[in-house]
Amino acid sequence: MRKKMVAGNWKMNMTPRETVELIRTLKPMVSDTDVDVVFCVPAIDIVPAVEALKDSDIGIGAENMFYEEKGAYTGEVSPNMLADAGVSYVIVGHSERRQYFNETDEIVNKKVRKAIEHELTPIICCGETLEQREQGVTLDLIKKQIVGAFMHVSPENAVKCIIAYEPIWAIGTGRVASSAQAQEVCQGIRTTIRNIYGSVIAEQIRILYGGSVNAGNAKELFTEEDIDGGLVGGASLKPEFAKIVNYKKL
Ligand code: PEP
Repeated sequence: MRKKMVAGNWKMNMTPRETVELIRTLKPMVSDTDVDVVFCVPAIDIVPAVEALKDSDIGIGAENMFYEEKGAYTGEVSPNMLADAGVSYVIVGHSERRQYFNETDEIVNKKVRKAIEHELTPIICCGETLEQREQGVTLDLIKKQIVGAFMHVSPENAVKCIIAYEPIWAIGTGRVASSAQAQEVCQGIRTTIRNIYGSVIAEQIRILYGGSVNAGNAKELFTEEDIDGGLVGGASLKPEFAKIVNYKKL
């Protein structure tokens, strides 16, 4: 039985001071749950977030990292810096990074492998544009993204990774994928994992859905067979996030 997970992606919102305030608001609201809860925060907010969440089961994630450990890479943050700061998860290959920062499948794979080396759990994002969906190439494209992300990743490490299916046309648009559309792709992702690693790993790996998740649609999405929770953007900055975490009570 896979444990559900709800991860917030705060994106480029919240100063360090605002981070502590938001955590103070949300923490008591998301603490009494059997769902894994993660806050993925901007790099500068990691240290105050870790401090504000000590003595809590809520995990901290980074929104990005570089795949080198140190050196002349001005402005970048390394996996060992994240691990040392108390980070447990890192989002890799978010569509905004693919779109604005030219993150390719090859770069995603380098980051996935480096994250694993430092015992960070990568939350690997994949997803299609509206145009690609309309062309009917969604499942092929997602398969390519997943195969690329998991290149040279051993089965023991693959099973620890989290995958987030995030259709680009649903991110920040208020236009959520129907639960049937989301389930179809998440099932396709599980099949791809099965073809690479076999059934045992495929049944254990967690696959999240992301894209305009809110309190009104979380339950329907998260109770689909192959959807193990959500990666939540906009709604993760509001008390609504607690409703999404507690979706079973909705
Ligand atoms: C995201 O960017 O990861 C996301 C899912 O955003 P939103 O929930 O705002 O669509």
